[in-house]
Amino acid sequence: MTDIKKMYIGGEWVEAIGGETLEVHNPATGELVGVVTFGDERDALRAIDAAHAAFPAWSKLTARERSRYLYRLYELTFQARDELAALISAEMGKPIREAKGEVVGSADYFQWYAEEAKRVYGETIPSSFPDKRIMVIRQPVGVVGAITPWNFPVNMVARKIAPALAAGCTVVLKPAEGTPLSAIRLFELIHEAGFPAGVVNLVIGQPEKVGEAFLTSPKVRKIAFTGSTRVGKLLMEGAAKQVKRVSLELGGHAPFIVFEDADLDAAVKGVFESKYRNTGQMCICTNRLYVHESIVDAFVEKLVARVKRAKVGDGRQKDTEVGPIINERGLQKVLDHIEDARSKGAVVACGGRRLTEGEYANGYFVEPTVLVNVTPEMKILTEETFGPVVPVIPFKDEAQVIEMANDSNYGLAAYVYTRDVGRAFRLSEALEYGIVGVNDGAPVQTQAPFGGFKESGLGREGGHHAMDEFLETKFISFGL
Ligand code: NAP
Repeated sequence: MTDIKKMYIGGEWVEAIGGETLEVHNPATGELVGVVTFGDERDALRAIDAAHAAFPAWSKLTARERSRYLYRLYELTFQARDELAALISAEMGKPIREAKGEVVGSADYFQWYAEEAKRVYGETIPSSFPDKRIMVIRQPVGVVGAITPWNFPVNMVARKIAPALAAGCTVVLKPAEGTPLSAIRLFELIHEAGFPAGVVNLVIGQPEKVGEAFLTSPKVRKIAFTGSTRVGKLLMEGAAKQVKRVSLELGGHAPFIVFEDADLDAAVKGVFESKYRNTGQMCICTNRLYVHESIVDAFVEKLVARVKRAKVGDGRQKDTEVGPIINERGLQKVLDHIEDARSKGAVVACGGRRLTEGEYANGYFVEPTVLVNVTPEMKILTEETFGPVVPVIPFKDEAQVIEMANDSNYGLAAYVYTRDVGRAFRLSEALEYGIVGVNDGAPVQTQAPFGGFKESGLGREGGHHAMDEFLETKFISFGL
C-alpha cells in the first residue's frame, strides 16, 4: 500500500479532516507516483489559524533572524536538487535537465530574499511644519494565502514564500493538485530548516473550497496567485469584499518578432527556448511568431530542422527535450488548436499529431509543431495554447508588427530579435508587455521583476519589487 503523504499545518504533518485522498500519476506513463491527503475549507481554516497565531512572533523577529532561516532553506533546497528535480519530472513530466534548473532557480529565490529581508528600509521626509516630523516605515501585510500552478511546481512556490517570509508575513500555501509531491518535499525541507510552527503551512485540497477560505477569512490579508486569467479574475472579484491585497501572475500570449537583420540561428534558438521548453507549458511561451516577409521561408526552414531534431519522451530520460502535456484536458486543447488552424487553412510544416505508439502509448504526447499560412480567425492566435505548437505569421514593417503584437488582452512577455539598436529600443518601449526579451528567449532572473500588463496580472514577483507586494507602508507624524 502506497504511503499517504500529508499536509503541513502548524509545524505538524496532518491528514485532511475529511479523510479524502488524491492519486498523482506520471503524465508520460500513467504510472502512480504517489497518494496525498486531500482536504477542503476546514483544513484551510486550520492552517490560516496557525499562520495567524505565528504572525506576531515571526513579524517581530529581526530581519537578520528571518534571513538565517531563509538562508538555511536555500542550502537545503540546493542540496536536495536532484531529488526534487526527479519528483517534478515524475509528477508533471518536465525534462530532467530543466527540472534541475527549476530547483536551482528556486533555491536562488531563498538566497536572494534572505538578503533582501535586510533591506526593508523606511524614509524620513522633510515636514511642512517646523514642529512636526514625518517618518515612513514598512510592515508586513499579515497572513498570505498563496496558490500556485503545476507548470513550475517548486519555483512558483519559492517565488512567493521567499519574499513573503522575508517581509515578515506568514503563509498558507495551496499547490496545484497535479503536483503536490514536490511541494511536500519542499515543506519537509522547510521543517528541517527549523521555521517556527505555523510560519509556513501547506494545504492540499479542493481548489474552490481552499480559495473560498482564503477569501472569506478576515485573518488572510493578501492573496498571491499564479495561474490562469480565469481563476485570477475570480480571486480578484472575491478579494474585493474585504479589500484584500492581491498579486496575480496570470496567462500570456507572447509575440516573438524576428526582423530581417536578426541573427537567424540565434532567433531559432530563442524560439526553441521560449516555445518548446517545458513542452510549451509556460506563461511566457511564444504563442505568435512574427517573421519579416523577406526571410520567412529561410527562417521556417531552419526552425523546422531544429524542431524535427527535438527528442520527445519521458521527462526522466536524460536526452528528453520535450516531455508530455500535463493531462488529457491539456492535450485536447493543444490538439484542438492544431485542428482548428488546419481546418481554417493552416499548413503543418512539421509535427501536428498526437504520439501514441511504443513508449508514448500511455502518455499525453504531441509532436513539436510548426504551423504556417496562419490567419487571424484561428484560435491559436488569441488563446493560450500551453503546448509545443508555434504559428508563423509574416509581417511587412515595424509599425505593422507592433500593432499586431499588441493586439491581445494579454501582456506578459514579448520577444524581439534584431541587430539594429535603435529598433531594439523602439520595440522594447512600444510593446505593451511586462517583460521584453531582446535577443533573449529566456528572460527570467531572480533579481528582475516578473509580471504582466493587461489581463496577464497585477504586481511583480522577483527582485526587490516583490517585497512591495508583502509590505504595508505606514506614515508616522511626530509632533515635537
Ligand atoms: P489554474 O487552473 O488557474 O490553476 C492554478 C492554481 O489555482 C492551482 O493551484 C489550482 O488548483 C487553483 N485553482 C483552480 N481553481 C481555483 C479556484 N476557483 N479558487 C482558487 N484556486 C483555484 O491554472 P493552471 O492551468 O493550473 O496553470 C496554467 C496557467 O497558469 C496558465 O494560464 C499560465 O499562463 C499561468 N501561469 C502564469 C505564470 C505567471 O507568472 N504569470 C506562471 C506560470 C503559469 P488545482 O490544481 O487543484 O485545480
